[in-house]
Amino acid sequence: MTDPSTVLAGQLRPVEHCSECGAGFVCGYVAGLPECWCASQPLLPARRIVPNQHCLCPTCLQKRQAAAQEASQTPD
Ligand SMILES: [Zn+2]
Repeated sequence: MTDPSTVLAGQLRPVEHCSECGAGFVCGYVAGLPECWCASQPLLPARRIVPNQHCLCPTCLQKRQAAAQEASQTPD
């Protein structure tokens, strides 16, 4: 299991760039790890996942999760 704090502490080289803000971050799979830190994150609702979109950095992933949660709490 890949601990996000290990990744964010810079012990691994950023090899990916966020499709939203362009920040460099580590994708565990690309770095050759058995698992990426993103696998330990809560999954986003399917409609929040954009086909063919590149991975997001931890910050943007969190923002998107927060937005998804807010949207799900809004009554119709
Ligand atoms: Zn980002």
